Amino acid sequence: MPPGHLDAAGCNVPSDRVLDAVVGHLRREREVGGYGAVADLGTARSALAALVGAHARDVAFLESGTAAMAALLGGWRLAPGSRVGHTRAEYGSTLMLLRRLAAERGVRPVEVPVDGDSRVDLDALREVLAGGLDLLTVPHIASHRGVVQPAREIGRLCREAGVPLVLDVCQSLGHVDTGGIGAAAYVGTSRKWLAGPRGVGFLITPGLAGPDREPDRLGRVMDAAAPSLGGHFWVGGQPSPLTGAARYESAEASMAARSGLGVAVLEHRALGPAALHARLAELGVTARRLLDGAGGWRAGEPLGEPSAVVTLRPPPGADPVAAVEEAGARAAAASLLVGTVPVARAPLDLAAPVLRVSPAPGACEESLHALARILAGRPLSA
Ligand SMILES: *Cc1c(COP(=O)(O)O)cnc(C)c1O
Repeated sequence: MPPGHLDAAGCNVPSDRVLDAVVGHLRREREVGGYGAVADLGTARSALAALVGAHARDVAFLESGTAAMAALLGGWRLAPGSRVGHTRAEYGSTLMLLRRLAAERGVRPVEVPVDGDSRVDLDALREVLAGGLDLLTVPHIASHRGVVQPAREIGRLCREAGVPLVLDVCQSLGHVDTGGIGAAAYVGTSRKWLAGPRGVGFLITPGLAGPDREPDRLGRVMDAAAPSLGGHFWVGGQPSPLTGAARYESAEASMAARSGLGVAVLEHRALGPAALHARLAELGVTARRLLDGAGGWRAGEPLGEPSAVVTLRPPPGADPVAAVEEAGARAAAASLLVGTVPVARAPLDLAAPVLRVSPAPGACEESLHALARILAGRPLSA
């Protein structure tokens, strides 16, 4: 991978094998025709589903995490007055979707209390659940803050309360452990920690019925949903959704990119998820220790947080917009690629933009040292 790449949370670097799979599929489409070059995605679906303890048939591919969330929530049958829980750390585009559902369908967003790090307060969640929720959506790791939410505990409380949990794993799949949570649905994306190609997102819906399975308790709620996109067939003069996750999948798409994601997921499995998670947690802690305080920049999450999403707030007194832009540009001039996170990414939680440093497992630590020198305003050779 390019040595200065520190933006896995924005868009990671696909491996040679992933690129070969994408290009190979495009070539086959040219040779035998697009519809002749059938991509075998079965193994990829199983491997992806296994990361959250689900089955291949629970996976639906879409074009992005945003498209997957829109297909899921847009199709959910939420009666006027339905209470949809979220936290202030919710992703900008999901919040926009919730606002639209509130305006058009009378859905009522309910904010779940969090602590000073925007981590879900489990006691407060218990109370909100006791007060009645129809659905809870939580980003496992947000885009603007490297805090890992206590997803297992959240999942357990939601199951006990019979409330479907939609866990946004766009920043967590491939990054931290996503097993044992028991969410009703997971929303993910290819290009971040799984290092797949751009242009693919997915939904994993373990609770829904399959051809050989009844829906579980949460799945029955979701099964009543009429999807806004994806697989329908025409029966008796009516559009009728396909069974299970297939109803959400878009039929016309870049099959080359989906094939590439499949290879990326298999590579992730072959490298060993537990070892990758440990490496990423260690890189994140190393990065925060090096960068927190450099030139007055401060980490936006606890230094020991076990994630490789490292956010940095500009020094006090600086114009944050200009400081973040300028730091990003100075890093780029030194061939370091870091992310900048605008307020719109998490409008309820961010008062000002932040810089985001997110090393992939293969990142070289020297680039973190170089970035620390840049933020401190020291010459690179020092
Ligand atoms: C990136 C991201 C999304 C959206 O995924 P896209 O593929 O960019 O649409 C949703 N939630 C979080 C936390 C993200 O980081």
